[in-house]
Amino acid sequence: MSTITEDELKKALSTAVVEGKDPKKRWLERIMKSAKFYHKICPYYDKRLDTCFLRRLSEKKGRCEREGKFDGCPIFMGFLERSYDRIVSEGKQLPIDFRDLSLGVY
Ligand code: SF4
Repeated sequence: MSTITEDELKKALSTAVVEGKDPKKRWLERIMKSAKFYHKICPYYDKRLDTCFLRRLSEKKGRCEREGKFDGCPIFMGFLERSYDRIVSEGKQLPIDFRDLSLGVY
């Protein structure tokens, strides 16, 4: 199994810009790619309780119905979209790495 270094990841993410797409879509794809690099299952999934941290913010049970498979999850994508809108509206620089976003740096 081969692994790539953090520098290689950043380079790959920065060159993964697809021409003609709107900035929000490009950013969402970049952050999703980064999240998948760092996490095999959703970082907001509590395996023991089978719950979603993001859903628990608005629902009592907050069950994850995807067993932590976050690729294409509307809850996860909604979180990223809201994060994008908030960061842009605050005039801050967008993170290029999921870890910066998840650590609450932004
Ligand atoms: S519902 Fe989506 S965001 Fe929540 S834990 Fe499951 S995969 Fe992750």
